[in-house]
Amino acid sequence: MTGQRFDLVLFGGTGDLAARKLLPALYTRHRFGDIDAASQIIASARQNLSDKQFRALMREKVVPHVAKSDYDDTAWQKFEAQVSYVGTDANNAKSFASLRARLIDEPERARVFFLATAPALFTHICGHLAAAGCVTPATRVVLEKPLGRDLESSCAINNAVGAIFAEDRIYRIDHYLGKESVQNLLALRFGNAMFEPLWSRAWVRDVQITIAETVGAEGRGEFYDTTGALRDMIQSHLLQLLCIVAMEPPASIDPDAVRDAKLQVLRALKRFTATEVATRTVRGQYKAGAVDGQPVPGYLEEPGIKPGSRTETFVAIKAELGNWRWAGVPFYLRTGKRMQERRAEIVINFHNVPHAILDVSGSARTNNRLIIRLQPEDGLSLDIQAKMPGEGMRVQSVSLDLQFEDELKARRLDAYERLLMDVIRGRLTLFMRRDELEAAWSWVEPIMHAWAAADDPPKTYTAGTWGPAASSALIGRDNLAWLEEA
Ligand code: NAP
Repeated sequence: MTGQRFDLVLFGGTGDLAARKLLPALYTRHRFGDIDAASQIIASARQNLSDKQFRALMREKVVPHVAKSDYDDTAWQKFEAQVSYVGTDANNAKSFASLRARLIDEPERARVFFLATAPALFTHICGHLAAAGCVTPATRVVLEKPLGRDLESSCAINNAVGAIFAEDRIYRIDHYLGKESVQNLLALRFGNAMFEPLWSRAWVRDVQITIAETVGAEGRGEFYDTTGALRDMIQSHLLQLLCIVAMEPPASIDPDAVRDAKLQVLRALKRFTATEVATRTVRGQYKAGAVDGQPVPGYLEEPGIKPGSRTETFVAIKAELGNWRWAGVPFYLRTGKRMQERRAEIVINFHNVPHAILDVSGSARTNNRLIIRLQPEDGLSLDIQAKMPGEGMRVQSVSLDLQFEDELKARRLDAYERLLMDVIRGRLTLFMRRDELEAAWSWVEPIMHAWAAADDPPKTYTAGTWGPAASSALIGRDNLAWLEEA
């Protein structure tokens, strides 16, 4: 076995995120030899469980979430032997003494606390960890989103955690940054000389970033109803993707070089006045419809949703950056639940040729387009105009497609596999710094306030569609169209 030795304590170890993502990711990295045999994974929650009981629970709840192609029973047995359980209650300082006793004091051993619990518990957990003597200057803490519900509450969490951990020991997760395709966007932009000269207002007409889900609020109704798509998706994932697309080339891949470049993007985002919120944003809420041919209820009929709730399940925004590179280029951001397809993608539309001499009447599109697909599978395609076979000089749009999975014959890492190994190895580049998080909240807040003050409810859309008609109108006013309508 190779690599850095570590003690990783997983608060929320019996929760949904641990079962679906974190423990499967750790098993997989263990299976592929990235976890040193002397490392410990310590799950923790309030339940009183023995190590044996927790391992049985993992077999029931975690194994089903391991990819079948990665599962091997002998490998699982070796993995679970390195996993133990200790009960702690965030509201009971004394319960942290037994956790302290489990931690191994070795100078070279990384110590990581992963807080996969409700953010309301972060302050208590960090305080009790410090009081119980669990925190050394090198100890790292990982925070799952949501980090607050506005700037003020986000600052409160950051102040509380920051009182115990230095900023360079705090790993704020946005799992979109761990996706292979987002890394590939960095590789595309900064590993190829040909894209940089095109990457500006001179050549780019518009940028569209979409994260569409087919699931509804199901199972998370109470949480979702107090959060909504703006806080849940735009403030975090979509703004992070926008940063990666729009940032200046950093001087290096070092964490602060990359995060400084992203921060400049967030600061360049033009803040909306209340009037602009009305013309540049669309919020929607799904009503009953059908997804993948199956009837589904409307948002207001889902369990845990308050009667008459105005929480948005869809958002579309026309954002703009006030800087030389991007002035005047619209960045359309869109996310929604119960959409027609599960799809996440970034579309860069380039300008048309300045002077047309060819017959484009057979082409659906006349401009070049670069699509970076994040899910369901990752890939990249570049649309170019090519001559149609036969007589005459007629051109049509064709796609140069790159499916990374087929082309680069290597196993793709799940985002959490990469991010967990980055935490263990102390690599901060893919994690959000406090000032980034706060800049993102500062931009989103005027939208939140204007919506809260507005008389009108969100626009409805039928489940299984691409959102309210107002979303098409938002982009249509610029004589443009979303990818699926273009
Ligand atoms: P969950 O299923 O409700 O799990 C919560 C965990 O916290 C459980 O292990 C629970 O165990 C533990 N817990 C609750 N109260 C506690 C206390 N007082 N002291 C110690 N432990 C306590 O939640 P989740 O879905 O895993 O989400 C965890 C966090 O990750 C949330 O902030 C969520 O927003 C975020 N997140 C989740 C997902 C996801 O896909 N699930 C995705 C992104 C972010 P006991 O009740 O036994 O203590």
